[in-house]
Amino acid sequence: MNDVRAAARAWFAANWRPDIPLGEWWELLAWSGWGFPAWDTAWFGKGLPASAAAAVEEERRRAGAAGPPTTLGAKVIAPLLLEFGTDEQKRRYLLPTIAGRAVWCELFSEPGAGSDLASLAARAVRHGRGVRGASASEASASPPEDEWVVNGQKVWSSGATVARWGLLAARTDPDVPKRRGITCFVLDMEQPGVDARPLRTMTGEERFGEVFLTDARISHGDVVGDVGDGWTVVRATLALERGIIGGISENLPPPVDVPAGTFAAHEQAGRQRGATMMGTGARSLVSALLERFGGADDPVLRQEIARLYVLLEASRAASRRRVDPSVAKLVTSEVTRTLRDLAMRIAGLHGTLDGPDAPLAGVVARMFLTSPSISLMTGTDEILRTVVGERVLGLPREPAVDEGVPWRELRVGTQRR
Ligand SMILES: Cc1cc2nc3c(=O)[nH]c(=O)nc-3n(C[C@H](O)[C@H](O)[C@H](O)COP(=O)(O)OP(=O)(O)OC[C@H]3O[C@@H](n4cnc5c(N)ncnc54)[C@H](O)[C@@H]3O)c2cc1C
Repeated sequence: MNDVRAAARAWFAANWRPDIPLGEWWELLAWSGWGFPAWDTAWFGKGLPASAAAAVEEERRRAGAAGPPTTLGAKVIAPLLLEFGTDEQKRRYLLPTIAGRAVWCELFSEPGAGSDLASLAARAVRHGRGVRGASASEASASPPEDEWVVNGQKVWSSGATVARWGLLAARTDPDVPKRRGITCFVLDMEQPGVDARPLRTMTGEERFGEVFLTDARISHGDVVGDVGDGWTVVRATLALERGIIGGISENLPPPVDVPAGTFAAHEQAGRQRGATMMGTGARSLVSALLERFGGADDPVLRQEIARLYVLLEASRAASRRRVDPSVAKLVTSEVTRTLRDLAMRIAGLHGTLDGPDAPLAGVVARMFLTSPSISLMTGTDEILRTVVGERVLGLPREPAVDEGVPWRELRVGTQRR
């Protein structure tokens, strides 16, 4: 472990340059293996166990160097490609993703498939050479290569309007039970068959998109995992996300042109005083609010602060002990609600103000409006409680009326028999 620490320290001392553009730093970090040290040595990593990778992270922080991107692509899609992707996919997608050049989105949810995601209806049909099952009209319109043609609608896709690629879950076999006929793909978002429209939330921001797919094309080489086994990939994606939800940055194009040092300073500031709706920086936010508005002597507030503290410790313990990701996500939801209510209580009516001249630049108001979304994303609290009940506590499974029934025969979304 000491050798790893020393090697990381030496590398950061020799290579960290705050004046180079962030994108250049990320590229250097990617090729060095020190950005994602737990990854395989063949793919931008050092093959280190988690404890040694954590030591590398400490050394990076000690050096004041910027960390690798914390985008959905780098934190979720890249690890998935490492697990399920082909070598060609890794060659093609990993570097642009971890160098911050490409944003990804996740195209899972549909208007008729959210909590019951396995009932999704976006349809992918395989065309091309030697493919059986394509109808005469499909075959005549089929493209020359071995491709999939996708039609359907996705919704709530974070970052869809700026994403270069999407991880898409689509139905490839409607004649088997719902979880068995799904396949995952990498979808090129910059093609004529993909129409990503922004959705505005109550904060006034447009961070989501709804995506309409009309004869969108996907090369067969972009199937992720096995055909018909997309549910395994979807579940792995959600598990990854649930475990690290507070550590994923907003799904926006990363600022690759800013000096790496400016970004590193931002990161540091975020750690010290940045408060997000997920409890990152909760302690510093509460301190700042008490300093600004008083209330540290109020016994009811003190009790609530103690409750938040206990939850934050539980959250820390959950991430250290690698508990089931559903438990970790539920704790995150609870921390979010507790922090929101506490912040509002301390700030009073001031907490409803937003804008640069509002107290703490409006962080409390924004947190208040964003907080409900945390209990929904990557699976609602209700669904996660069911998952915990069944998979962690071993309670009897919820009764299911669609077990063994081919998807085509289900009444899901707008589907009619
Ligand atoms: C901030 C945010 C980011 C998101 N990002 C993405 C993304 O990038 N890509 C993507 O594909 N999706 C994304 N989503 C969508 C998210 O995964 C869904 O909103 C979520 O799965 C819930 O689905 P739904 O909205 O259709 O609600 P529904 O499934 O319609 O649920 C409505 C209500 O009914 C409850 N309910 C439903 N079924 C049950 C049950 N069996 N037992 C008990 N209660 C039940 C739910 O808990 C919920 O309260 C995002 C959502 C949010 C809020």
